[in-house]
Amino acid sequence: MKQAGTHPRLAARARRLEISPTVAMAAKARALKATGVRVLDFTVGEPDQPTPRHVLEAGKAAMDAGRTKYAPASGLPELRAAVTHRYREDFHVDFAPEEVTVAVGGKQALALLYQAILDRGSEIVVPIPAWPTFAEAARVAARVAGATPVFVPLSERNGFRVTARAVAGALTAKTRAVVVNSPSNPTGAVIEPAELLKIARLAKKHGFWLLYDDTYAHLVFRPGGPPALQEVKDAAGGHLVIVGTVSKTYCMTGWRVGWVMGEKPLADACAALNSHSVQGPATFSQVAAAEALTAPQDVVRAMAAEYRRRRDFIHPEVAAVPGVTCPEPEGGFYVFPDVTRCLSKELPDTVALTTRLLEEKAVAVVPGEGFHAPGFFRLSFAAPLEDLQEGARRIAAFLAEHGGRGKK
Ligand code: PMP
Repeated sequence: MKQAGTHPRLAARARRLEISPTVAMAAKARALKATGVRVLDFTVGEPDQPTPRHVLEAGKAAMDAGRTKYAPASGLPELRAAVTHRYREDFHVDFAPEEVTVAVGGKQALALLYQAILDRGSEIVVPIPAWPTFAEAARVAARVAGATPVFVPLSERNGFRVTARAVAGALTAKTRAVVVNSPSNPTGAVIEPAELLKIARLAKKHGFWLLYDDTYAHLVFRPGGPPALQEVKDAAGGHLVIVGTVSKTYCMTGWRVGWVMGEKPLADACAALNSHSVQGPATFSQVAAAEALTAPQDVVRAMAAEYRRRRDFIHPEVAAVPGVTCPEPEGGFYVFPDVTRCLSKELPDTVALTTRLLEEKAVAVVPGEGFHAPGFFRLSFAAPLEDLQEGARRIAAFLAEHGGRGKK
């Protein structure tokens, strides 16, 4: 029997979990905005353009047509087919619609996949710097205690590109999955196709899942075509799992549609898990996502060109600040400068530095600590060029005023 006055406890996994650093910094920026200050907010990774008109119309028409009831737990058949169609067209890889399970955005796709593949004590290899959710979601996914993320530090000198050699060094008998996120959040690094192929061969040999998160795959700026995913899939011997989303490619972050795509038993396990939890995204959201994936893709090409223009502006600006180094992002919409040499007694780490940057210059960026990369910060250039210009000026002024050891 409970004693009077005692409070029911939170589960251990919930007590351990911290809110995403991006969300935390965005909240600080919002609080400052509420006081009337004009804040330049480069925290959240969200396209600044609206959802394309034809996608919006498809969602509205779906509602009017009464598509407001449950969809199957694996997703609408037309959306599962649309996902496979898009990968065939853009990445020349064949999956069957039965190998797709629709999820509530890429975030739930990842959570679902982790629930489907991780046991207590499983290890998951996460090259870092990395999006915080890759590790945190693994810790909470396994039922009793979490799985263990095994971090593989990547080298700034190599542009933070994932290599098969780095991954191979982290494999153990407990490795259940290896995460490859290309282009990467937060570094913008794109994996070399030959390295991806080598990791796929390791996946087959050692029996782990190659978790390929291609959230930013349509925003690649470097020359060369898309990765030869069919070759990767064949080399991985069925162990390739793709986590994808319409969020960034189609400016649809709020519609909450993503997917897990891999061999059928895995997709079925994800659908079974969905059937006992979220069921899936709203049915009309799924109709709109299918339209986004099957309609002409001019909007995607236009958006990629726009991000490239912004990258071409912001990267040289940031990299030119005394004391700062910054690999050029090859995709996505983030720059991830190394500001270690700007740290000082007054600003001992990047949490302190980014907090002061917000307080003094009203510029919000995310400290590297959350990405397992203290000494860096992430700036999203999914923002209008005028804001980026003003933001770059304020950041340069701030770092000049606070100096540190930052002389080049
Ligand atoms: N993967 C990566 C690497 C991301 O950066 C994000 C969003 N920040 C996601 C997945 C999930 O996006 P969503 O849930 O909006 O589909």
